[in-house]
Amino acid sequence: MENAFGPLPATRIAALEHLQRFVPKAGRDYARLRNYDLGPGGHAHVSMLSPYLRHRLVTEEEVLRSVLARHTAAGAEKFIQEVFWRSYWKGWLEMRPEVWADYQAGLHAAINRTKSESGLRQCWSDACHGQTGLTAFDHWAQELMQTGYLHNHARLWFASIWIFTLKLPWELGADFFLRHLLDGDPASNTLGWRWVAGLQTKGKTYLARPDNIAQFTERRFQPSGLATHAPALSGPDHPPRRPLPGPSTWPKDKRTGLLLHEDDLSPGFLFDAGLSPVSVAGLQTSAHRSPLAVSDLVQGFTRDALNDAAQRWQSRSGNNGGVHDTVTTLVTWARSNTLRQIVTPYAPTGPAAEGLNDLEEALHQHDITLIRPMRDYDSRAWPHATHGFFRFKEKIPQLLAAMGL
Ligand SMILES: Cc1cc2nc3c(=O)[nH]c(=O)nc-3n(C[C@H](O)[C@H](O)[C@H](O)COP(=O)(O)OP(=O)(O)OC[C@H]3O[C@@H](n4cnc5c(N)ncnc54)[C@H](O)[C@@H]3O)c2cc1C
Repeated sequence: MENAFGPLPATRIAALEHLQRFVPKAGRDYARLRNYDLGPGGHAHVSMLSPYLRHRLVTEEEVLRSVLARHTAAGAEKFIQEVFWRSYWKGWLEMRPEVWADYQAGLHAAINRTKSESGLRQCWSDACHGQTGLTAFDHWAQELMQTGYLHNHARLWFASIWIFTLKLPWELGADFFLRHLLDGDPASNTLGWRWVAGLQTKGKTYLARPDNIAQFTERRFQPSGLATHAPALSGPDHPPRRPLPGPSTWPKDKRTGLLLHEDDLSPGFLFDAGLSPVSVAGLQTSAHRSPLAVSDLVQGFTRDALNDAAQRWQSRSGNNGGVHDTVTTLVTWARSNTLRQIVTPYAPTGPAAEGLNDLEEALHQHDITLIRPMRDYDSRAWPHATHGFFRFKEKIPQLLAAMGL
């Protein structure tokens, strides 16, 4: 993926360099210009850090520290809030995982409909190939497929046109994003689409307006033929919140393996808590972001990111057992290293957590335990995702103070 700063390789070094180049712009420039989508190669007013943050090649805490070393909290308020949107969505979904299960069920139902409804199938295919005849929409579909990235404003416009102009099932659009976004993430994506559709903040929808698109694309696009109303979709009430897991620890005298996965490639907090593994391996689950084929760009970025992390932590982990995409080969890794336990960063609701559940069951038969400690950043932030972001954001000063910021 290229941006105004150059290519984005899936390595920690690239993530840190990219962060350093963006930091000077994270203050008032970001607040003033972040809504402008100037197209591929022109996304200089936003950070494009999301592929790195989504996989935690760089953590939210590191990004916040770098930004606050250069700007005041007031000066970088907008950027800091955006970083906390990610934490808010993750916490919200983690307390209501049924919303992810409902999305998956809705997606399967919509895919089934495309098998018998030829009009729907054609419209879906045109939208996914950027062949609807709506110039701006078609451009974004192709930008997404070619680069793995879309500006936030384009994501909003695209989702709105998908739902209210093309009248396609929202789950098919969310799935299109998850198959192509390098930052494709169960929480931010599902809840972002639900928000546009009026399912997340009940009754509040997002309507893509031609004048707004023209203004914030600097007249690259002046669309016509868009829906003029965005009636909220109907859906069930939010499920009740489930409690978040408490702190977890592990016996220090057992042979231990470190397992990395796509939701958290910064396991330093585990070493700080005394982790001393004899081997490190990676679990790749990006193919399970969708029941359909996930793009080569996404698969390649995730694999490179996992390999980079495994190589980085190898010197503190005995040996490098490689990156695996099946439970069977991971069990072989565990057994050949005579592991008694495997420690892995907590994975929030989504494909990595589902993969870890399967692994846990398979390991159980060999008397090997899987332990998933949560990092302090998540355990402090997530419990505040009880209501809307407005209430959550009041906790930001307290969350920053807890990090010493
Ligand atoms: C329909 C829809 C789908 C989306 N799907 C995803 C997704 O799959 N994965 C994903 O990471 N983000 C998703 N987003 C959120 C947002 O669009 C991206 O995080 C952001 O555009 C990433 O670009 P950036 O790093 O240049 O952002 P910047 O503007 O530079 O923001 C800095 C960081 O703040 C966080 N952030 C900013 N805006 C949001 C937001 N609205 N929600 C959550 N976090 C945010 C990201 O970590 C981002 O890297 C979606 C938004 C919408 C409207």
